[in-house]
Amino acid sequence: MTAIAAEARRILADLGVPETRFAGGTLPVRSPITGEAIGAVAEASADDVPDAVGRAQAAFLRWRLVPAPRRGELVRLLGEELRAAKGALGRLVTLEVGKVVSEGLGEVQEMIDICDFAVGLSRQIGGLVLPSERPDHRLAEQWHPAGVVGIISAFNFPVAVWSWNAALALVCGDAVVWKPSEKAPLTALAVDALYRRAAARFGADAPDGLATVLVGGRAVGEALVDDPRVPVVSATGSTRMGRAVGERLARRFGKAILELGGNNASIVTPSADLDLTLRAVAFAAMGTAGQRCTTLRRLIVHADVYDALVPRLAGVYRAITVGSPVAGDALVGPLIDGDAFAAMEAALAAARAAGGTVHGGGRVEVEGEGAFYARPALVEMPGQVGPVMEETFAPILYVLRYRDLDEAIALQNGVPQGLSSSIFGSDLREVERYLSVQGSDCGIANVNMGPSGAEIGGAFGGEKDTGGGRESGSDAWKGYMRRQTNAINYGRSLPLAQGVRFEV
Ligand code: NAD
Repeated sequence: MTAIAAEARRILADLGVPETRFAGGTLPVRSPITGEAIGAVAEASADDVPDAVGRAQAAFLRWRLVPAPRRGELVRLLGEELRAAKGALGRLVTLEVGKVVSEGLGEVQEMIDICDFAVGLSRQIGGLVLPSERPDHRLAEQWHPAGVVGIISAFNFPVAVWSWNAALALVCGDAVVWKPSEKAPLTALAVDALYRRAAARFGADAPDGLATVLVGGRAVGEALVDDPRVPVVSATGSTRMGRAVGERLARRFGKAILELGGNNASIVTPSADLDLTLRAVAFAAMGTAGQRCTTLRRLIVHADVYDALVPRLAGVYRAITVGSPVAGDALVGPLIDGDAFAAMEAALAAARAAGGTVHGGGRVEVEGEGAFYARPALVEMPGQVGPVMEETFAPILYVLRYRDLDEAIALQNGVPQGLSSSIFGSDLREVERYLSVQGSDCGIANVNMGPSGAEIGGAFGGEKDTGGGRESGSDAWKGYMRRQTNAINYGRSLPLAQGVRFEV
C-alpha cells in the first residue's frame, strides 16, 4: 500500500469509520495527487433509498418535537467534533480531492463556522406578526420544519456543502439524507463518523436515522429526488445535473435548492488598484486549480489598464507553482481526473480556433501517468464566443477588453450562468452602478476582491443556469422550513376580510 492510501486509511480508522465501509467495497476511490487507489467503498443502490428515507422520516417525526435551541446543541457538539478533527479531516480532503493543505483545512473551518452560525440561528428562526385588518384579530406567520431534506453534493467541496445544508436543516427540525459525490466518498464517511460522535454525546433525543449517508452514483441521487417523503432536495453540481434534478422534482412539486455551475467574471476599471487586482485575480482564477463553482473564469479589463495588467498577469501564470499538495508548497494542485484535463485541453483548442491567444496550459508531469496536473491558462480572447460562454471546470481565465462600463456589464451578464462576480475600482459612481439594478445579475457581486471564496454569513447561490438556490447565511434557513400563516380571532364577532358580508 502506498503512503497516501495508508495515511487515508489511518485517518478514517482514527475517526472511527469501520474498515468495511472504506475497504473491500465496489466503488474505487482514487487520489488525484497520484492517481492511485486509496479506498474501495461499499456502495448503496437505489433500492436502499426507500429504507433510508423511511428511517429519516421516522427520525424527523421525533426530532421536530425537540425545541429548536436544544436542536442547536446537537449542532454545537458537531462543531466541537469538527474543531477537534480539523487537521485530520482537512488532510483527508487534500488526499481525496487534491486541495492544497490550507484549502483542505479551510473547507473544514467553513463547516465549523456554519455550525456556529446555526447554533445562533436555533434561537432566531421565528416568523413575523403582521397587522390584521380586522379588529380583535392577530395575523402571524410561523415556520415549521419541512421534513426529510435530501442533499446531493459535488466533488469539489466534498464536506462543506453537506454542512451548509445539514447544520441549518438540523436546527430547523429536519432530518437529512446525504448522497455525496461518488468521487469523494471517503470524506463523507469521515463526516458521518463525526456526526455520530456528536449524536452519541447528545443522547437519545437525536434519533437513529436523523442524518444518513448513502454512498452511490446517479441512480441513488435519482431515487432520493423521486421519493415523495423528501419535500426538499438541495443539489450541488453541474447545470446538467441540476436541470435533471429540477425537472424531476417539479413533477412532484418538491422544493429544490439548486447550486449549479458558474461562469464568474470580474471587471477591472481604470480606477482599480492594479497590485491588489493582480493578487485577487491570481487566487480567484487559479486557486483550487480552477475547480470552484466561484472560480474566476472571465476577466473584463478596461482598454486603458489592459497593458498595465495583462502582461504582468501572464507572468504570474508562468511563475505559479503547480505540484503535489502533500510535497512542497505548490499553490495549484491536481485536477480531479483525466476527464477534467481532457475538458481543459478541448476548451483551449476551441479558444485557439476562435482566435484566442493562450498563455500557459498543458500538462505538468508531477506524479506520473495517473495524476493530472495542468499549468493554468490565461487566454486573451477577441470576443465572448465559444468556450467563454461555458463553465470548464479547470484553471482557464479568458481575458476580454472593454471601453465603456455598460459594455463591460453587458459582457459580464451575457452568459447563461449567474453565480458570482466582482468589480475592481475606486470610482464610487462606477462601483455603485455595478451593484445597482443596472449592474451585475449574479447572486454574488463583490468589490475589490475576486468572485471566489464566500463567507458563510451571507446567502450563497446564483441566478439563471446556476439554479436560483440560496444556502448558508442570511435567511437561507427558510428553504428548509415550511411557512404557515395564522389568522387568529380572539373577539366575539366574525368580521370577514375585505368587508365581505355573509349573514346566516
Ligand atoms: P456533477 O453534476 O457531475 O455531480 C454532482 C452530484 O450530482 C454528484 O453527487 C452526482 O452523483 C449527482 N448527480 C449527477 N447526475 C444526477 C442526476 N441526474 N440525479 C441525481 N443526482 C445526480 O458535478 P461535479 O463534477 O461533482 O461538480 C462540479 C460542478 O459542481 C461544477 O459545475 C460546479 O460549478 C458545481 N458546483 C456548484 C456549487 C454551487 O454552490 N453553485 C458548488 C460546488 C460545485
